[in-house]
Amino acid sequence: MLKVLLVQLPIPRLNFCQVTGNIPMGAACLKEAVSDVPGIDVEILPESVVSYLGDQALTDLICQNQPDILGFSVFSWNLDRSLYLAEKVKKNHLPRIVLGGPEITPDNTRVRSSSIDFRVYGEGEAVFRRLLTEKAYWDAGSGSESAAAIFQNALSPYLSGLLEPELEDIVLVETQRGCPYRCTFCYYNKSQKGACFKDESYLLPAFEWAIGRGIGEIYLLDPSLNVRPRMASFLKKIALINRDRRTGFYSEIRAEKVNERLANLFYEAGFTGFEVGLQSTNPKALALVSRPTDLERFLKGTEALLKKGISLSIDLIAGLPGDDIHGFMQSVDFVASHGLGEDVQVFPLSVLPGTALRRDAQKLGLRFDPHPPYTIIETPEFSKEDLMLAYDYAETRLDTVFFHMPDLDVAFRKADGPKTHPGDIRVRLGGRRYVMKVDLFLRRPISEIWRLSLRLTQPYQVLVGPEMTDPNYLVDILEILTSANPFVPFEVVFFEPQEKPRTSGLLEAIHLRRPHFLDGDLRYLYPDPGNRAALFTLISSQRRVNFKGEMKRQVFWWREGRLPDEKDLDLMEEWDGVLIDSPVSRETLIRWQDSIGRKADEDHLLGFADIDLQKRWLLLVNPDMYAAPIINAIR
Ligand code: SF4
Repeated sequence: MLKVLLVQLPIPRLNFCQVTGNIPMGAACLKEAVSDVPGIDVEILPESVVSYLGDQALTDLICQNQPDILGFSVFSWNLDRSLYLAEKVKKNHLPRIVLGGPEITPDNTRVRSSSIDFRVYGEGEAVFRRLLTEKAYWDAGSGSESAAAIFQNALSPYLSGLLEPELEDIVLVETQRGCPYRCTFCYYNKSQKGACFKDESYLLPAFEWAIGRGIGEIYLLDPSLNVRPRMASFLKKIALINRDRRTGFYSEIRAEKVNERLANLFYEAGFTGFEVGLQSTNPKALALVSRPTDLERFLKGTEALLKKGISLSIDLIAGLPGDDIHGFMQSVDFVASHGLGEDVQVFPLSVLPGTALRRDAQKLGLRFDPHPPYTIIETPEFSKEDLMLAYDYAETRLDTVFFHMPDLDVAFRKADGPKTHPGDIRVRLGGRRYVMKVDLFLRRPISEIWRLSLRLTQPYQVLVGPEMTDPNYLVDILEILTSANPFVPFEVVFFEPQEKPRTSGLLEAIHLRRPHFLDGDLRYLYPDPGNRAALFTLISSQRRVNFKGEMKRQVFWWREGRLPDEKDLDLMEEWDGVLIDSPVSRETLIRWQDSIGRKADEDHLLGFADIDLQKRWLLLVNPDMYAAPIINAIR
């Protein structure tokens, strides 16, 4: 039996338990496509495990599986980490390694690693079948083949139980591949001549399945849903299945193509929201990226959808060629002044491999980060300072924040834990126990830290107690943990330290691979580039704030015998958050969470010292952001 293991690594995050959206849809389609090939066992590392494990724990898991073939689905956010894991696994155990996914393009020099045996360009199903049935095909080193026929005749992989819809309460459905538009910054079309559509007879059973299971949301992965032929009749059939609009549908759409009749059909079918790519209102920029937009029709389309109560998330891009700060501000003003400013996402331009924009980048004078996510740094019309200004302007005009600091989750008290120190906090994933919080309240033998480094989650925290006064010891610990997990973001939490921690020394000692994906992705969190993947939090009851700066925050440790009221919280505005640790009963704390805490949540970052209360709090105030099955797996 030939053993194949497929892996898709998540977008890195600084908060554990958050939903990652890392649904291995591509891997599931591959498995379906070879289900009739005899002598093959294809396994997919489940989202609930792969999304939450550190580098070393994942490497060990893959090696224990002993696959003959190891495949990675590669996106900009997991490219470097996928290559790192591929190399590590190849050294230990010698599987053939194949990479596929949007990041794998012939012009992407970053994927030329000697550990990789094969690169799949574009759709994977047909190439994957050949790799598993024709040994000699591996010699080609790369391949590209249309999988339209396989895609059009495949049922949803959810029906075969290949994915975990309960983890995020969502089912993804791909109804089309390709897109009739040709925006130059987009790589969606790179291997596709035109769009091909899956027949309703394969789609409707997937909808029925999800609605029957009470899944909250069906997300149609199509980039421009409304280019589908016979859309009206398709929507009427969905409306019959989703009679009481029990399950919400969500997708992406070109608003110019929507009229009142279509908006009504979307509503009847159960659509609750759309992501709408406006990108810019500057005609010069839109022409340069081949995305002509009729703004009048765009407004008519959005108005029709909003009238039906369908929410819209509008996308804008900062740093498009041909645009400048004034053009960008006008785009923001356009959105705000037409009642579309409720939910806006502003992305810095990414100059992606495989796109026409990347090909023409030099000609257009685009300077961008060569590392994923290839963020624009400056253009002839958009200076570095203008890009920061663009975010400042959009945040003020739209009254929002685009780059958030991570949530406050520094819980350390277990009901049955030791009294003098927290003990490591663990989580059970895929039947094994991993460590998400390392207890450094007491000095521990280095050999113990080595063992812990093999079982860390992604991300993880190091909890440093007041007695831990030797900075060299902490440097040693971080060196060990980050050497074993060079791609895993982490947070160091100092509890009432005797001296202000010197984070620059710690940053120099850690072995995170730089630039980390978050260094690029969160580039505009601070004016200067640098660390965005290691966070330092100081917890103190001192009434003086002196721990400020990039990726640093100071949280007030509330240990009084009573819980704070709204006035107390308002007085602590200067702090980055408040950790509630009052010696009151669990019932009192729960009542406080449900009343004052909930009300104060909009204005204050709140956290709880008790692990169980923190778990409850995260699900209470951010139910869509956190994966309940992962939270409940914390012990
Ligand atoms: S950005 Fe959207 S509309 Fe434009 S080519 Fe890509 S998928 Fe199509």
